[in-house]
Amino acid sequence: MGALGLLAMDVPEKYKGAGLDYLAYSIAVEEISRGCASTGVIVSVNNSLYLGPILKFGSEEQKHQWIAPFTSGEKIGCFALSEPGNGSDAGAASTVARLDGDEWVLNGTKAWITNAWDASATVVFATTDKSLKHKGISAFLVPMPTAGLSLGKKEDKLGIRASSTANLIFEDCRIPKGNLLGQPGMGFKIAMQTLDGGRIGIASQALGIAQAALDCAVDYAEKRMAFGSPITKLQAVQFKLADMAVALEGARLLTWRAAMLKDNGKPFTKEAAMAKLAASEAATAIAHQAIQILGGMGYVTEMPAERHYRDARITEIYEGTSEIQRLVIAGQLLKAYRG
Ligand SMILES: Cc1cc2nc3c(=O)[nH]c(=O)nc-3n(C[C@H](O)[C@H](O)[C@H](O)COP(=O)(O)OP(=O)(O)OC[C@H]3O[C@@H](n4cnc5c(N)ncnc54)[C@H](O)[C@@H]3O)c2cc1C
Repeated sequence: MGALGLLAMDVPEKYKGAGLDYLAYSIAVEEISRGCASTGVIVSVNNSLYLGPILKFGSEEQKHQWIAPFTSGEKIGCFALSEPGNGSDAGAASTVARLDGDEWVLNGTKAWITNAWDASATVVFATTDKSLKHKGISAFLVPMPTAGLSLGKKEDKLGIRASSTANLIFEDCRIPKGNLLGQPGMGFKIAMQTLDGGRIGIASQALGIAQAALDCAVDYAEKRMAFGSPITKLQAVQFKLADMAVALEGARLLTWRAAMLKDNGKPFTKEAAMAKLAASEAATAIAHQAIQILGGMGYVTEMPAERHYRDARITEIYEGTSEIQRLVIAGQLLKAYRG
């Protein structure tokens, strides 16, 4: 994937990226996830969550140091925001960073970190001034492995099982002062803006899972005979397929709209949240119906339908749960109405 440019799709060529845009990225993540949703999230995290904030907020020197080696597949990165005590409430971060001479000293635990076991660096969020609450959070670049940073066990997950997920445990982990990303106190803004882009990636992952589930359902239904003819002759099955296709196409258009707004430098927070909400809910609904269409064969590992069902579920949880997407959408909507 590195050789094909898939790991740094919207990174300019001067930093060794593919120099493409977010629409291309969305299409690529969908196609990759259609084959393997675990690979889809690995790609999405490197592109959106690791490279994205460095590209947007990093200094020229940081871009050369922390982006170029992560474009070829030789190294991949991760993004550490969530903690055992707070996920949706990301502003309540309890991981702390203290300046000691020319070094930052990090202490605390980050939870659920995708790519943790495979990553060579992380963008990590820690509080530099607790009294300022979320405005006291800063972002840092930490090489991996490094002294004072250990990994938790690999989580045993329902789906996306080929992607590693683990805690990052910081115990007096020292990094150079220059590894601060952006300004002190900018961390929460960096995290939220990064997640806006990340949600396009996860929406695309969900589209890929949904498309694979629909492909599997149609293929099976065309071949499966019941009462003397293929089950695609049954209107009950046709109605299911129609509803699956409408949900998928609607979510894909929302996702592409969000990507195009981002590509054109327009606000896209609401649209990315809409895309992620629609695509993730479509993926779980479509994967559910695919199993129904396969009957007993939908329930066993011999066919991929049960994998799509397990993989789809995470898309409603990470990078903001469906409830959080609804809060983001309603917040933006009300702001626009109130003027
Ligand atoms: C496989 C996997 C990979 C992940 N990868 C990463 C990663 O790479 N980096 C990273 O930083 N994090 C990662 N996460 C963490 C993920 O983003 C969080 O799990 C998610 O944001 C939810 O947080 P939580 O688990 O703490 O749930 P909670 O925040 O405790 O939420 C529990 C429930 O309460 C609801 N809820 C919470 N607040 C509200 C509210 N205000 N209004 C309505 N409902 C609410 C939620 O929607 C949810 O249903 C990953 C998680 C998983 C499972």
